[in-house]
Amino acid sequence: MPHPDVLDKLVSLAKRRGFVFQSSEIYGGAGSVWDYGPLGVELKNNIKARWWNAMVRQRDDVEGLDAAILMHPRVWEASGHVAGFTDPLVDCKACKARFRADKLQDAQCPRKPSKRPGEHADCQLTEPRQFNLMFKTFMGPVEDSASVVYLRPETAQGIFVNFLNVQQATRQKVPFGIAQIGKAFRNEITPGNFTFRTREFEQMEMQFFVEPGTDMAWFEKWKAWRREWHLGLGLDDDRLQFHQHDERELAHYARAAFDIEFDFGGSLGFQEIEGVHNRSDFDLTQHQKFSGKRLEYVDQAANKRYVPYVIETSVGADRVTLAALVNAYREEAVAGEQEGRTVLRLHPAIAPITAGVFPLTRKDGQPDMAERLAADLRKRFPVFYDDAGAIGRRYRRQDEAGTPFGITIDGDSTTNDDVTIRFRDDLRQIRVASGQVADVIADYLASDKPTAEVPRT
Ligand code: ATP
Repeated sequence: MPHPDVLDKLVSLAKRRGFVFQSSEIYGGAGSVWDYGPLGVELKNNIKARWWNAMVRQRDDVEGLDAAILMHPRVWEASGHVAGFTDPLVDCKACKARFRADKLQDAQCPRKPSKRPGEHADCQLTEPRQFNLMFKTFMGPVEDSASVVYLRPETAQGIFVNFLNVQQATRQKVPFGIAQIGKAFRNEITPGNFTFRTREFEQMEMQFFVEPGTDMAWFEKWKAWRREWHLGLGLDDDRLQFHQHDERELAHYARAAFDIEFDFGGSLGFQEIEGVHNRSDFDLTQHQKFSGKRLEYVDQAANKRYVPYVIETSVGADRVTLAALVNAYREEAVAGEQEGRTVLRLHPAIAPITAGVFPLTRKDGQPDMAERLAADLRKRFPVFYDDAGAIGRRYRRQDEAGTPFGITIDGDSTTNDDVTIRFRDDLRQIRVASGQVADVIADYLASDKPTAEVPRT
């Protein structure tokens, strides 16, 4: 069964609950730029931290980096972006809309009835012309061609130009990698689908430097590791697939490239969330040529020097965040209740709020006990305290935010010093001594399984 299209519903939930807002909304919005609200920033930060942990902290062969967005303009000549980071663009002289020539099949003419560009009788599409996707600005007070700089369209080049700096500072030996998370900017012609394709986004990239000849073996390893990572994030196995770049898609310098695709459901279907690329020695060789500086690795033990090959893993933090939301979104009937619920079944470890704490009533010392417990839990993870309204409604609000645990303090709690933990996914409830709540929840957070599947007595 194809997965349903939940994007429109997510856009509305995201705004209502504070995951994502349109940028500059009170001015009518800025084109395809989005702001993360209180829940969204927690979710995206959790995903970035999980990537950093898996890629840098848990490995002794990958180092971290945080390179600047602005770089020397020659970087982008060397990388090929000035000459070749273009999309073919067609204009329609009748409706003035612009489309990517290679995506006309997926595009819509803005006029009604809805048709593809070129399909209305009076559509007048121009011949395709190349449109560079880099944002330009000026460095310093003079706005002339000599002071042009670019907002980086990818983070990778910051890693390449620092290859020897990092290698020498850390005394890493090839094979080793450099990873970073940072903003990238692309003046996309046809952005859209919420945060799927935006003009400002965050990438999580890692370049792994290897000896030529060992590259394909490393490529296969990274492909498998990266798929595992997405599964660990909670993305469903049947929603992930590899797409191999064929001759036409493959960049001229690339020896192999696979996209990891996620099924966003509806008409969007499977789309790239991450690229795993074997970039050969292209980038370092280009930077050697353009900078005049040697970027070779000296293997002293084997008494040889060479320009390493690079295996790249490049994933969009925003796109994975969107995938996690789409994957988690459910509208469910609830047994014994008329009203259904909307729930985000996010992996507990990435949920923006870990636990909701609810005194059943505002009397008999329940709020005091609940506030004390909330303060205690807050030392370990994000907690939301809520004492207003019917308990069912309070649960529903947290279901919608993806909060995996609801802790209720009732009439017995103050006497017995215990509380109920309600599980978001299967609505199970267990009774736990209040001093144990933090440890019970920590167990779930450390697990790779959704809460419903973790056996607990
Ligand atoms: P696409 O074909 O979708 O334009 P790409 O092949 O140009 O993507 P890469 O250059 O390989 O993408 O970038 C690596 C990752 O960065 C992508 O897998 C995606 O997750 C993310 N990404 C790229 N462009 C955007 C964008 N405009 N908005 C959000 N994320 C993006």
